[in-house]
Amino acid sequence: MSKEQYTSVQVSRQTYEKIKERLARSNMKITVSSYIESIILENLETSELMSLYGPFLSYVGNSDNTIFINDWKQRRIAGVSVNMKEDGSFSLFCDLDQSENCVHVGFVFALPQFYKILKEKGLSSKGLKIS
Ligand SMILES: [Zn+2]
Repeated sequence: MSKEQYTSVQVSRQTYEKIKERLARSNMKITVSSYIESIILENLETSELMSLYGPFLSYVGNSDNTIFINDWKQRRIAGVSVNMKEDGSFSLFCDLDQSENCVHVGFVFALPQFYKILKEKGLSSKGLKIS
């Protein structure tokens, strides 16, 4: 790609070193710039998703492997369960829609609590260990 497609932003030396360290630890073969860009894009997507669903969905809480979402439109609570598979991967299931592909499941993917549960369970996604 040509230089014109890029612009510079600055991060503190401390942040830069922290990211570099993390990349080295997790054996990720990407540059610090690519990593920062992917995090920013992910974050933008998450907040766009949240603002799309935000008005009628909200996080209530979670039990061991179920995340509860309040759906203000349907005036119901959706329980999205995290199901572990033998190969170490997982799937999500919404008890309200009896579905793996509804707005509640999509919303759960945007919740930091979901990734905490995955981490606690030591689960992996697509064969990648989440650390
Ligand atoms: Zn649902």
